[in-house]
This record gives sequence, structure tokens and C-alpha cells, in this order.
Amino acid sequence: MVDYSAMGLHRHGQIEVICGCMFSGKTEALITQIRRAEIARLRFQVFKPEIDTRYSTDSVASHNKSKFPAVNVKSAREIMAKVAPFTEVVGIDEVQFFDDEIVKVATELASSGRRVLVAGLDTDWKGLPFGPMPQLLAVADAIHKQYAICMVCGAPATRTQRIVPTESQFLLGSTDSYEARCRRHFDPEFVTRIKMTHEKATNQEATHFAQA
Ligand SMILES: [Zn+2]
Repeated sequence: MVDYSAMGLHRHGQIEVICGCMFSGKTEALITQIRRAEIARLRFQVFKPEIDTRYSTDSVASHNKSKFPAVNVKSAREIMAKVAPFTEVVGIDEVQFFDDEIVKVATELASSGRRVLVAGLDTDWKGLPFGPMPQLLAVADAIHKQYAICMVCGAPATRTQRIVPTESQFLLGSTDSYEARCRRHFDPEFVTRIKMTHEKATNQEATHFAQA
């Protein structure tokens, strides 16, 4: 990944988006950048939406278990209220779960001279743009697209395949519910199909018992 911090761009404030599908190392990349800021003795704060409690409640954690302290916030506005005046680098993980207000917040923070690093899923399990990500990508000064490995063919993966029969958007990432896939092996209809098969089997069973 290009280290934009070394280019000095951040001195004027900037928004950097780290995006990709699940298992592409987004949080890992965010943690790396924050650690570099720490080594450079820059003052930083890391935030994440309260919805993401899968591994730890007071830190950001990647799938391979590396962790970093983070403040839970309920809304994008709350980040504004919690950023200290001296903070130079602001990290935000799982940014796709915030509402559109996050775009304004990131812009305000960058305009005040801060380096704003946001990490999030660019598409959801249906392959559609996730929440505020399209807007964040449009206003970003730098974009780092991360790739996972397709679990079918081993090619670079850009999509998150859901493999359990539920259609809720907020099913948080466990290794059991999702797989990384390339465009060719991504199947957004899979969930609907297995759900229908399951319902049909249940109905047939019900009919069978009703007739018995
Ligand atoms: Zn593939």
C-alpha cells in the first residue's frame, strides 16, 4: 500500500479510504497506518460504530486478531464531539455502518488539517454499494483498495459472499457466515435460493404431517 503519510499530504488535511470486501485486510491496513502515526509521534484517535461488537468492545480488531484501542460511537456526529483539539490523525473502522453524516464529518476533520483514515466494506452481500461508501470514495484524497482471495478459485476477491440463509444487511462478520469471492464466483442470488429451498422443504414437511 502506498504510504501517503510519507508524502506529507496529510499536513494539509486529507481523507483516505481503505476499502474492499471481507477478509481483505482493511482493519489490518488501518491498524498499520495508525501504528505508523504513533511511531511518528502524531496524536491520533480511533473510532468505530457501536454496532460492531464482534471481537471486542473497546478496540478495533481484524480477522487475524490484531487489535487497537478504539472509542465506540453511536453516530457520526459523536465523532466530532469526541475528537480532541490536538488530534492530528483520526481513524474510523467499519465506516460503512455510519449514516451519510459521516461524509460531512470526515470532510470537516480533513478541512481542519487532520489526516482522516476510514476503513470499510465497499459493497454489501448483494454486491451493492454499502451505505456512505460511494460518497466517501468520491470525496477521498487517496483510496486503498484491498483484495481478499476467492474461496472457489484463488483469484483476487472483491466481493463478500453470504453463505447463510438470512437477508438482513446487518449480519456481522464471522468466518462462518461469509466467504470472499471473485466477480465470477460471486452469487448474490444464493441466499434467496437456499432460503426458498429451505422454506419449500419445511412446507412439504408440514403438508406431509397434515395429511398423515
Ligand atoms: Zn473465483
